[in-house]
Amino acid sequence: MQNVIAISTSQKQILSSHAKKQKPNECCAILLGHIQNNKAVVEDVLLTDNVEKSPVNFTISPEQTLQGYMKAQKNNMEIVGIFHSHPNSEARPSTTDQKYMEINPYVWIIFSGLTNEFKAFVLETKIVEIPIV
Ligand SMILES: [Zn+2]
Repeated sequence: MQNVIAISTSQKQILSSHAKKQKPNECCAILLGHIQNNKAVVEDVLLTDNVEKSPVNFTISPEQTLQGYMKAQKNNMEIVGIFHSHPNSEARPSTTDQKYMEINPYVWIIFSGLTNEFKAFVLETKIVEIPIV
């Protein structure tokens, strides 16, 4: 499993402004790139819609998920991470997030609208926070 994720400042700006635009609801995105050894490197960000339009949950539509896979394949990349925001709480996986982390074993990056922080997590036997570089 990945133990570090690299994402550029400009990609973080794209994600945080996406989060601010979608307020009060959670926003989401698919992170594309490469995995080198245990390092996930984000090279492209696909902003997606939160079909739930909820301040406490998010769902990426199957169509946009497929679009993510196709874009990755076309550019010789893979899906390396899932991004979403917590508009009014800390950047820590919710109980629902933990359930979906089991199904989607990528690096999960969460942006908190409360603290303006990005944090990254993977699910091993439990949730582990990993560094963002
Ligand atoms: Zn969440």
